[in-house]
Amino acid sequence: MQQHRAHRPILDVDLSAPEPIPQAGIDRAVELMRSGRLFRYGEQRTGELEVSALEKEFAEYVGTRYATALNSCGATLFVALKCAGVKWRDKVLMNAFTLAPVPGAVAHAGAEPVFIECTRDYTIDLDDLRRKANGGANVLLLSHMRGHIADMEAVSALCDELGLYLIEDCAHTMGAKWNGQFTGTFGNIGCFSAQTFKHINSGEGGLLVTDDKEVAAKAILYSGSYMLYGQHGARPSMDVFEKFKYEIPNFSLRMSGLAAALLRPQLKLIEQRALVWNARYELLAKLLSQNNHISVPPRSEKEEFVSSSIQFSIHGLNDSEMAAFLDKCDERGVHIKWFGRSEPLGFTSLYEHWRYVTEPQRLQQTDTVLKRLCDMRIPLCLTDDQCRLIAAIIHESIAEVGH
Ligand SMILES: *Cc1c(COP(=O)(O)O)cnc(C)c1O
Repeated sequence: MQQHRAHRPILDVDLSAPEPIPQAGIDRAVELMRSGRLFRYGEQRTGELEVSALEKEFAEYVGTRYATALNSCGATLFVALKCAGVKWRDKVLMNAFTLAPVPGAVAHAGAEPVFIECTRDYTIDLDDLRRKANGGANVLLLSHMRGHIADMEAVSALCDELGLYLIEDCAHTMGAKWNGQFTGTFGNIGCFSAQTFKHINSGEGGLLVTDDKEVAAKAILYSGSYMLYGQHGARPSMDVFEKFKYEIPNFSLRMSGLAAALLRPQLKLIEQRALVWNARYELLAKLLSQNNHISVPPRSEKEEFVSSSIQFSIHGLNDSEMAAFLDKCDERGVHIKWFGRSEPLGFTSLYEHWRYVTEPQRLQQTDTVLKRLCDMRIPLCLTDDQCRLIAAIIHESIAEVGH
């Protein structure tokens, strides 16, 4: 038995490996470095402004009137909250299941999160949202966490009914649509990430989209435009800035020219990358679902997701068996994150770990879901055979912990 085990294949892939930057991006970045013009604005002679070009292309891509580039998605969420008029001690409704920069952005804006339960399908629970929306909050910061998109017609209708201002956190849904419409365009503001582990990569980066001209002007001013906002690529007309230009602080959250140079060619690759990611996801989902300890939630016909990672729930294992199962997977090269860990590890933390939140909140349904929730990246380089090996390793590891 021992010997048999020793011969078992291991997965020899770094599941967190990003893709290289396309050559066109590298060339343009080198050109910019040679010129020294890395700041997004010029003063006397501007030349072609990389960040402005990206903004224009991104607005065209998602189909919004305006786009503003910033230095991260977390900063973009913060600016979005400021644009929504969130003030000190205001309450902001948000998913309990999300990533730490989201409650971080709420705290940055001086506000208090009100956590909303997570469904079995890993999306926001609209019944709980309805219940908690009456507590004085008028902004919903909605995360499409790990790319899982809630029923956006229902979300929009509920926001209209309850008078909620909707900000979409699309860190994991760049390129994804609900019923043919890009995420980030359902609410008042959409926020995207260009961090290495998202769908386009400049190390760090954020993009804010909106059709609201006043929001666009405010976002540009908050981002730190000095009085050079006229150089923006997808901005409202100059008179809109007049109203706000002395009122809005410069938070210095700009994107650098270098980041934009790397991102522009990647925008054109999203569709193609999505096909590869989704094919891997479908295969993994099919293979994993064959195990009666694993469930992969069904996805709506209306959801055109971009699955750069896969989430699944494990049933019938207690906490120590879960930990043992994950260790076994890890030993064989399959690195799975577990949201049920009592201590935060790497990128995964739970709402209860965000202890700067003053009002303690308990979300039983979310606790139950996250206790079982596993999360694995899907690098674009993964082959079909490697997907089969991953599934085999997961099945065998579950069996080895006694099931
Ligand atoms: C990554 C992520 C963010 C933050 O993005 P950064 O660009 O790293 O600041 C926000 N929300 C979710 C759901 C994320 O996954």
